[in-house]
Amino acid sequence: MSGFLFDKIVFGPVHSRRLGVSLGMNLLPTDHKICSFNCIYCECGWTKVSKIDKFTFPPANIVKQFLEKKLIEMRDNNELPEAISFAGNGEPTLHPEFAEIINNTIELRNQYSPKSKVDVLSNATMLHLPNVVNALKKVDMNILKLDAGTEETYRNINCPLTDITLEKIVAGLKQFTSNLIIQTLFVRGELNGKIIDNTTETEVNEWLKYLRDIKPDLVMIYPIARATPAKGLEKVSMNELEIIASKVKKFGFKTEVY
Ligand code: SF4
Repeated sequence: MSGFLFDKIVFGPVHSRRLGVSLGMNLLPTDHKICSFNCIYCECGWTKVSKIDKFTFPPANIVKQFLEKKLIEMRDNNELPEAISFAGNGEPTLHPEFAEIINNTIELRNQYSPKSKVDVLSNATMLHLPNVVNALKKVDMNILKLDAGTEETYRNINCPLTDITLEKIVAGLKQFTSNLIIQTLFVRGELNGKIIDNTTETEVNEWLKYLRDIKPDLVMIYPIARATPAKGLEKVSMNELEIIASKVKKFGFKTEVY
C-alpha cells in the first residue's frame, strides 16, 4: 500500500485522539514521505526516502507564511485550534530549519492563538543535534517515540534507516529533564517470517527500565488505528494496553491509553 500523505504544509484542523482539535504542520514534501525510520505500522506507508536534501523541504519563511494565513483565517472564523501539531509525511526534525520554524510558530501562536499548544511528534532520531533538542524544549508538548525495550524489537518495529541504536535514542531522550512525553505504539504480528511483539513480559519490562532512566512527564500508549504497510499486524486490545499502563503507573509515571 502507498499510505496516506498530507497534501499541504498546513493541514486540517483535524480531530486528534491525543491532541484535540489540531492544526497540522507538515514540514516534509507533500508528494512523498521522508523519515529516518521505516516503521512497520506507519500510516504514511513505507519509507522510500531517508536522505536529507535541503531542497526538498519547504523553506522556513514559506511555512511561516502558510501558518500565519491559516491562523488569521481561523481567528476570523472564531475557530482557533487547541493545538498546532508537527507531524506530517515523515520525521519533522529532519527539516534543516526545524529550530527556526519552531521559533516562528511560537511567535505566531503567541500573536494569533495564545491558547493553542505547540506540539511536536518525533521519532527522537535527531537528538544528537543541540538545536533540535533546544527547539523541542520550547514546545508545549514534546512527544517522542520509544516503541521497544530491546534492540532487536526496535529494529523489527521501527526499522531505522541510519545507524542509530536504541541505546543512542535513549541517551538522547535522557537529555530532557522536564517537558518530555514518551509515545509508545504496541503491536504484534509476523513479518518476513519473524514474530514481532513489543507486548511480551520481557519486552515490557525492558521498556519500563528505560522509562525509569528517562523519567518522562507522561507516557502515551496506543495501538495501531489505521491501515499499516506491513500486512498481518494485530491491533493490541484496550484491555492489554491498560495492563501495560498499570505497570507504568506502578513506576510512578502518568500514563494515558488511546
Ligand atoms: S517515525 Fe513516524 S513517520 Fe517515521 S516511519 Fe515511523 S511512524 Fe512513520
